[in-house]
Amino acid sequence: MTEFTGLTAIVTGGASGIGLATARLLAARGARVACLDLTPEAVPEPLLGIRADVTDDDSVRAAVRTAVTTLGRLDILVNNAGIGAQGTVESNPDDEWHRVLDVNVVGLVRVTRACLPALRESPHAAIVNTCSIAATAGLPQRALYSASKGAVQSLTLAMAADHVREGIRVNCVNPGTVDTPWVRRLLSAAADPDAEFAALRARQATGRLVSADEVAAAIVHLAGPSAASTTGAVLAVDGGMQGLRLRPP
Ligand code: NAD
Repeated sequence: MTEFTGLTAIVTGGASGIGLATARLLAARGARVACLDLTPEAVPEPLLGIRADVTDDDSVRAAVRTAVTTLGRLDILVNNAGIGAQGTVESNPDDEWHRVLDVNVVGLVRVTRACLPALRESPHAAIVNTCSIAATAGLPQRALYSASKGAVQSLTLAMAADHVREGIRVNCVNPGTVDTPWVRRLLSAAADPDAEFAALRARQATGRLVSADEVAAAIVHLAGPSAASTTGAVLAVDGGMQGLRLRPP
C-alpha cells in the first residue's frame, strides 16, 4: 500500500516530458493514471493513453468521460499540456496569441470544467497546474508565453478560492528550464545543439537544468493526501532562480 493506492489521476500532456514523468511517478506510487494527449500512442503501459486536444471542448469532454468510466473515479487532475512561444508584443500576430492562449489557458479551463463533477465525488480531490517561472520572472522574448503562464498562476489562486469549501485543492508548480523533448527540440534548431545545451546548462545557478523527474516529484507531492492542507500554493522547481532573484538565463 502506498499514498496513492486506490486513487486515480488524469494528466494532460502526459505523453512527453514533465507530464509523462508525472504520470509514471503517480503510477509507481500506486495510482491508476490516464494520459490525455494529442499523441496517446506514445503513452507506455500501464498508463492509459487517451486522445484529446485541449483546444476542442468536444474532444476534452469525450476523453474525460472515457477516463472516468475506465478508471471508475477521479481524484487528481494535473493540467500540464502546454506549448511555447517566443517573441515580443510586436512580433507575435493576433492569431499566434489566440493559438497559444487557447492551449495554455483556455485548454486548462476546458479540462478542469469537464473534470470537476467527478472530482467533487472524491475525498482526496486535487488539481495541480504546470505553470512556469515565466509567470513572474520577466523573461525577454517571451511576452506571449509569460502572459499565458501568468494567467495559469492567477487561475490557480482563483480556482483554489472557488473550490476550497468543496474540498478540492488547487496548486501549481513553476519550473525553471527543464530538460524535456520540448527544450531539446528548441536547441536542435541551433547550429551546434550540443554547444548550445552546454551554454544553457552553464547559465543555470546550479550548473544544470532541472529534470522532468524533479518537477514530477513536486507535482506528485502537491497532488497527494500528504499535502492535504496545501491549497493556493505556488511551488518553484527552478534551481533557485526565483528565490535567489537571479537574472533569467
Ligand atoms: P513536451 O513538449 O515534452 O510535452 C508537452 C505535451 O503536451 C506533449 O505530449 C504534447 O503532445 C501535449 N500537448 C500539446 N498541445 C496539446 C493539446 N492541444 N492537447 C493535448 N495535448 C497537447 O513539453 P514539457 O517541457 O514537458 O512541458 C510540459 C508543461 O511544462 C507545459 O505546460 C510547459 O509550459 C511547462 N513548462 C516547461 C518547461 C521546460 O523548460 N520544459 C519550463 C516551465 C514550464
